[in-house]
Amino acid sequence: MIYETLGVPTVINAAGTVTRLSGGLMHPDVAEAMRQASLACVDMLQMQAAACRAIRAATGAESGIVTSGASAAVLLGTAACLAGLDPGRMNRLPEVPDGRRNFIVVRSQRNMYDRALVVAGARLIEIGIPDRYSGPGIRDAGAWEIEDAIGPDTAGIYYLAQTQSKPELRDIAAIARRHGLPVLVDAAAQLPPASNLRAYLEEGADLVCFSGGKALGGPQSSGILAGRADLVASALLQMLDLDVDVAAWSPPREFAALSQLRGLPHHGIGRSCKVGKEEIAGLITALNRFVAEDPAARLARLRARLDRILNAAGGTDLAIVDSNIPSLAWTVGPAAPAMAARLLAYSPAIACGLSRMDEGVLLFNPMAITEEQGHQIGLAIAALRA
Ligand SMILES: *Cc1c(COP(=O)(O)O)cnc(C)c1O
Repeated sequence: MIYETLGVPTVINAAGTVTRLSGGLMHPDVAEAMRQASLACVDMLQMQAAACRAIRAATGAESGIVTSGASAAVLLGTAACLAGLDPGRMNRLPEVPDGRRNFIVVRSQRNMYDRALVVAGARLIEIGIPDRYSGPGIRDAGAWEIEDAIGPDTAGIYYLAQTQSKPELRDIAAIARRHGLPVLVDAAAQLPPASNLRAYLEEGADLVCFSGGKALGGPQSSGILAGRADLVASALLQMLDLDVDVAAWSPPREFAALSQLRGLPHHGIGRSCKVGKEEIAGLITALNRFVAEDPAARLARLRARLDRILNAAGGTDLAIVDSNIPSLAWTVGPAAPAMAARLLAYSPAIACGLSRMDEGVLLFNPMAITEEQGHQIGLAIAALRA
């Protein structure tokens, strides 16, 4: 086992596909696709063309590429909105000399990943008062406030897709369309349901970003950027290595927009978000598997892992929490932080979800564990409870 060789302890990851704990576990088919990809070299433009075909089929988008994660997709999508297909603007990012770099964001949707927009050169313009979170009020931003904030320096609208996100994406997209502005949607963790692969685009998003290493089950450092063909082509160009002979440059028809440039830019702002052929092969394989899996079968697969915990742990302090991704809640009370620490110090080490620790509840997420590990978690709970 490689981790023994490296002297790195493993952990049973019931916290979900979190990056801090290395994401999830890959299906052998995905790992095999990556292994095979590692055995020959290809032109990366052709590899991204294959990704484009797979992403188009899975999302209904005009175009798509594989990125090195959802965060990279946000960065590249922003760069595309800021530069379009102008190689001069691409060369200047993260500077935008004409100042057209503002992205409007609803204040309640600000999050720690939106820094990727700023890295690309955008400036975030916050609007709305998230009063419904602060107790006294029930309101959030209205779509009209977004329209009100649009000016000559507006380059796009950024939207964090969450079930509680307000205003409705559909309403924002209608305003954006009226003003000829793109809407960039971060939907990194909004799978399953698989229908969300299409939903945001159908509601009017110009670009949508997904993580490959979360529910899709792809490589941890992979993601998807899907949407309008001209914007996706711009994003791709700003990630690719462009140490190429300009005279021989001939993009495949999936990225036809790139054959009409007035010149080729330098390596772009996204060159640091490089994605490898192995990740692309793995992501395409994982995406196809994800789309093909029956939702009821997916749910049963996840539930079976939680049932193993329940069966081994017994007790009345455990309850299934139904959601797109079901989880198991362990009501511990005020000792929850200490119990989480004991689980982590247990042999085997177990990491659980801490988002409800304030209520004295520890969460067990089935995404990144095996059924056997579910059994081990159950035994640990029974032992620690005693
Ligand atoms: C996980 C997540 C990301 C980052 O995704 P990576 O694939 O790890 O880059 C970005 N935005 C949101 C909302 C996320 O949940």
